[in-house]
Amino acid sequence: MTKQAPIYLDYNATAPLLNEAKKAMQDCFDDMGNPSSIHGFGRAIRKKVEQAREQIAKLVNCDPTHIAFTSGATEANNWVITQAPVQRVLISAIEHPSIIDLAPIQKNIEIIPVTASGTVDLEALEKMLARENAKTLVSVMWVNNETGVIQPIEEIAALAKKYAALLHTDAVQALGRFEIDFEKMPIDYVSISAHKIGGPAGIGALIYGHDTPLEKFIHGGGQERRRRAGTENTLGIVGFGAAAKFAKENIKRYKELASWRDELESRMEKATPDAIFVGQTSPRVGNTIQVILPGAASEKQLIAFDLAGIGVSSGSACSSGSVKPSHVLSAMGVSEAMAKCAIRISFGLMTQKVELDRFFEAWVANSQRLK
Ligand code: PMP
Repeated sequence: MTKQAPIYLDYNATAPLLNEAKKAMQDCFDDMGNPSSIHGFGRAIRKKVEQAREQIAKLVNCDPTHIAFTSGATEANNWVITQAPVQRVLISAIEHPSIIDLAPIQKNIEIIPVTASGTVDLEALEKMLARENAKTLVSVMWVNNETGVIQPIEEIAALAKKYAALLHTDAVQALGRFEIDFEKMPIDYVSISAHKIGGPAGIGALIYGHDTPLEKFIHGGGQERRRRAGTENTLGIVGFGAAAKFAKENIKRYKELASWRDELESRMEKATPDAIFVGQTSPRVGNTIQVILPGAASEKQLIAFDLAGIGVSSGSACSSGSVKPSHVLSAMGVSEAMAKCAIRISFGLMTQKVELDRFFEAWVANSQRLK
């Protein structure tokens, strides 16, 4: 029997490096020079950095001069939450650990609850905004990495505007999945990351508005218009630019991925009627399924899929390794016992439909064995 190729269904943890990004980086391997240097070597590499900045700006329709490269979205998130010139910070209960883990450390952070369907509770947010007259930052992710649920960012932006609050969104899981028009949305700060769209890990950016205050987080040289010190990660930036260009050209394919997702979910529903699909009643990105199979522990499911050559996740990669149930599911009111039976399937532009068929076959086999 010939061995089947392994199947990667963990794009929300990190997407495979695109050939386009690999090629763009390979073309830079032999470049020397620091982009801040005035000589020809420096100028040549600066040109590539600025071209990448333009490519990223085109993907989200923002002013390229308002993109500050960072070491990833973790840094961008830490930057905004710790440095925004505000008296208090309201973050949602389902933020990524790069935000939620600041809550016990930073005294002025308050948590906005979410509804059972996985979206921010807008009434609760408005009450929190109205309660105090202090200058406030609201930080709500655009798309949740575990559930794929799209947050009502337009409504949140309207509330932030009404109460003169600053607004940050972690758009890591939204980037490249649907159109983002930064110029049209009243958002002050947006965090993005390359490796979720097929660029390399270790490079991200913070995008900020024209009148948005932005204090320095990393101190040192005058890079990134004096916003973020440190010699630029040229290879990473160039790979990010190429991935952004690819994402823009292929963004419409997410509609097709959503139809594959819907078809897979309905097959799973028929095969395992007790399975619970998290966030199914909310708007979701087309590439994510989070499903609870009552009685089948996440770890056991992951191992069974791994043995079948299929890589899925129990939630966010950053939290895996810990046996704690997902803080996202807890915030949505899912019991600990149920949350411990959740897995996440996430795919992307490199996925082939037959791979989802093979996942389905393994799902049926596992669900009969594990429960
Ligand atoms: N926010 C979200 C929603 C994420 O999914 C991730 C990656 N797991 C991050 C932030 C952190 O991004 P990075 O890996 O670039 O630091």
